[in-house]
Amino acid sequence: MLGNNIKAKCKNCGCDAPADSFKLHYTIGQMVCEKCFRNPKKEEPKEEPKKPSGWDAEDDYLSKISVIRQEENQAQFSKIQGSNQVKCKCSNCSYSFKYDPFRKQPRSCPYCDGDIPKLKTMNLL
Ligand SMILES: [Zn+2]
Ligand SMILES: [Zn+2]
Repeated sequence: MLGNNIKAKCKNCGCDAPADSFKLHYTIGQMVCEKCFRNPKKEEPKEEPKKPSGWDAEDDYLSKISVIRQEENQAQFSKIQGSNQVKCKCSNCSYSFKYDPFRKQPRSCPYCDGDIPKLKTMNLL
């Protein structure tokens, strides 16, 4: 054993390997390191991006929109101090009325009969 530590770059995998371990690979047609010689079809496992490019921005945009929508919904209710009822502002006609989130009364806007948005009771009471 000569014991030289001369390293060379393998042109197949790009790694540094002891120069004396290089062998001519018959299918690759060049000197490759021992690793490549044993396993010439070295395929770098390409990690698939979990989301396609562009998704992040859109996803972020959509989540922001949904937050804004939630805020809009919540803005239609405001707590009435000392009461289990809340003040509800109709999204249709902007009429303000008292709403009982426990009995879910009234069922609809007393002015225009419009739907009352679902109230996240926990946030207000
Ligand atoms: Zn190699
Ligand atoms: Zn209304």
